[in-house]
Amino acid sequence: MATPTHIVVAGGNYAGLNAMRHLYSTLLAGPAPAAVHLTMIDRRDGFLHYVGMTRGLTDLEYGEQLWVPYAASPWLRHPQITVKQGTVVRITDRCVELAGGEMVWFDYLVLALGVARFAPIGVCARTKRDFVHGLAATHAQLAAAKSVAVIGGGAVGIELAADIKSKFTAKKVALVHSRAKLLPGPFLEALRDAVADILEHRLGVRLVLGRRVVAQDPVSADMWGATSNPECVRAVATAATLTLDDNSALSCDLAIRCLGVHNRHALLDFPPDVDITGPAGIRVRPTMQVDDDRLPHIYACGDICDRYQIKLAGVAIHGAYIAARNIARAVLHPARSDLDTSVPRPVGILLLLGHDHSVWQSGDTLHDEHTARMVSDDDMTLARSIAALSLLQVPAAASPYDQPSAT
Ligand SMILES: Cc1cc2nc3c(=O)[nH]c(=O)nc-3n(C[C@H](O)[C@H](O)[C@H](O)COP(=O)(O)OP(=O)(O)OC[C@H]3O[C@@H](n4cnc5c(N)ncnc54)[C@H](O)[C@@H]3O)c2cc1C
Repeated sequence: MATPTHIVVAGGNYAGLNAMRHLYSTLLAGPAPAAVHLTMIDRRDGFLHYVGMTRGLTDLEYGEQLWVPYAASPWLRHPQITVKQGTVVRITDRCVELAGGEMVWFDYLVLALGVARFAPIGVCARTKRDFVHGLAATHAQLAAAKSVAVIGGGAVGIELAADIKSKFTAKKVALVHSRAKLLPGPFLEALRDAVADILEHRLGVRLVLGRRVVAQDPVSADMWGATSNPECVRAVATAATLTLDDNSALSCDLAIRCLGVHNRHALLDFPPDVDITGPAGIRVRPTMQVDDDRLPHIYACGDICDRYQIKLAGVAIHGAYIAARNIARAVLHPARSDLDTSVPRPVGILLLLGHDHSVWQSGDTLHDEHTARMVSDDDMTLARSIAALSLLQVPAAASPYDQPSAT
């Protein structure tokens, strides 16, 4: 029997799982499975709903639900699928190397490794048990603190400050941001103003805007310098004094830094003249293939790639859908060359500011708060994500030439 085509998906969260789901639908779910083998590699043993992380840190009962073990997905146990728990340390144009030296060879590769953030938003845990343990440790610190400073007014810092203040209303919560307005990025000024208004006037978060933190005493582990995996490094300090760039000081029981993300370019070991990395991630074409004619068998989707202006779970899910359809087309009909393409989406963001407030921009429209609340799920899209990724049910067979769906 001919050797099956080996498709490897590196990363098993929003992008990686959705790639697997559609590869399964198009190649394995029908009455005559294709001669392929799918391998998904992830450090973790389950899906983690990052979108709910800020709420999970403040509400442990909810937080425990954020991790869904891969073992809950019956279709991932198909005999032509391997789910491998391991850490990717090197990626060449033919194989993925894991910590410990194992080489996983591929005919097609989907890169879905996301970006890294410092803990506690970034998550180092490999099992649900360790994840819940880590959540509980941060939650205990939060619960014990009378005053908390969140440093960094991007989407994550904003949602964290809002969740802390909503849950622990008596605490003093400050959000320190270096620019005059919150939420850097391609957003409407009116959106920034609405976020600031809710945080300050309705939730009671103290906004410290236009002020950079120039020193922190004691420093937190993320300030020590270079690290191979930021997710295992905590950006948290207790009994901290922050010095701001106007020489003022801000003291708090707990300081949490929510600053920036780290790409995973260092894992790529392609021939030296292959240049596919840019500041926003791996450059991909509308087909989700990486931007080099010599690598048509390598796709990248989700936060690791540069396709969209804002890195979002929905965008990751959509890019993976396109990548999986295109790989399935190439496997099933190698003589055809009509690949699917992803269409850039308008700028949009939905921010959940605690349980009771939301702001939503889609395209050039800032929706009123009632409309924003209507589209906000109480569980921060946990159930919707589990359903979209078919985590708990078997995906139906589909053709990679079917009319495109949203996911
Ligand atoms: C606090 C927070 C709130 C957010 N809110 C929203 C929101 O409201 N709406 C929205 O759409 N988006 C939101 N996002 C963004 C969203 O979470 C990301 O866009 C999404 O996670 C990207 O999915 P991904 O699959 O590309 O990457 P990830 O979800 O980061 O998955 C990458 C996977 O790769 C694995 N991995 C990484 N490196 C290795 C390695 N070396 N070896 C093995 N495995 C590895 C990881 O374990 C992980 O499972 C939020 C993010 C955060 C942090």
